[in-house]
Amino acid sequence: MPAGKPATPLCDQFGFDAQWREAQLRLIGLDEYPRDLVNKLNAQVLSHEVVEGVIEGFFTQLLHNPQAAELLSSFDLEHLKQRQMEHFKSFGVNYKDAAYFESRSVVGVAHARVGVPLSLYLSAFGVLQTLLLEAIARQFPDSRESLNLDRLVLKLTTLDIALATEVYHRAQIRDLNRSVRHLERERKSLRNQLDQDTLTGASSRTSLLRELTEAMARSTKTGQPLCLIMADLDHFKSINDTHGHMTGDKVLTEVAARIRAALREFDVVGRFGGEEFVILLENTSHHTARLIAERVRSRIGSEPVSVGGKSLRVTVSQGLSVRQDGDDSQSLLSRADAAMYKAKQSGRDCVAEV
Ligand code: GH3
Ligand code: MG
Ligand code: MG
Repeated sequence: MPAGKPATPLCDQFGFDAQWREAQLRLIGLDEYPRDLVNKLNAQVLSHEVVEGVIEGFFTQLLHNPQAAELLSSFDLEHLKQRQMEHFKSFGVNYKDAAYFESRSVVGVAHARVGVPLSLYLSAFGVLQTLLLEAIARQFPDSRESLNLDRLVLKLTTLDIALATEVYHRAQIRDLNRSVRHLERERKSLRNQLDQDTLTGASSRTSLLRELTEAMARSTKTGQPLCLIMADLDHFKSINDTHGHMTGDKVLTEVAARIRAALREFDVVGRFGGEEFVILLENTSHHTARLIAERVRSRIGSEPVSVGGKSLRVTVSQGLSVRQDGDDSQSLLSRADAAMYKAKQSGRDCVAEV
């Protein structure tokens, strides 16, 4: 920002640039700055006493409204009156400057934050407008003399209303957008939690079944092969029984990591049940699937898992199924399951098919 130019963060944020401000002023009929009239308004009409009277009248009238009274009850009225006084001190002065727009915008943001109902907000501006016109009428009883001042006050309050409501509206949208982004992050994080098995980091059963359905549909459409492996840890119960459930958990986590390491990036491994994992091999031939199953078997069985100083030998039995015409997710899973039991019966630590 160039030196000497006051900071106008709200104008910057809401896009109230020179062009926007110029267009707004032209619309209201404030494009030519009436210096003498603004000076007259401030010097002769808006004296300290007059403004004080206007503000007193303003709050008295507001407090007659139950909704306004309720809202105001949680604020320090004297402080609010003081703020209003300051607001009027600069009423219309150099209204073409960004700083004027900025100071008016602050008011809108503050009201949006408090959650002032818009109808109440606009009515309050109307009340203020009327009180100002009445003050002019008292000061200049000759209606011809007061006409130009009336016009100026109407235009300046219109500008205040336009800015305040615009900012009010934009601040609410900004806050809503923030909430939406926050909820979106929460939704993603919940989705991640649902999609992942918390213990092993493998895909959850829900996510795995979804992936399987999608992969089945793709394979049916393209004719590309799809294979599935059901892998079940051998005699896992005895690991729990001998070393405790916590050790069992660590073994499960390590096994999941070893399976993952034996797979390609695009393969999916999910925890299907307690100590059962399903591996989804898309666009993979029967031959390659067998190689991968052997690699999984060797990664798990060739090196013991060390947990808490203990070295535990772990093996898996795997059942392999290849998608055939007429298969659905269930039939593919069932064949892999049956094959896995066959592997168990064949002595475990091996890969079988049915
Ligand atoms: P098999 O070789 O016939 O598969 O024998 P197994 O002992 O592995 O099979 P079984 O079905 O008898 O036992 C599976 C065990 O897996 C029993 C259960 O307590 C254990 N298990 C399941 N989920 C978890 C888990 O999240 N953590 C731990 N530590 N153990 C689990
Ligand atoms: Mg088992
Ligand atoms: Mg089992």
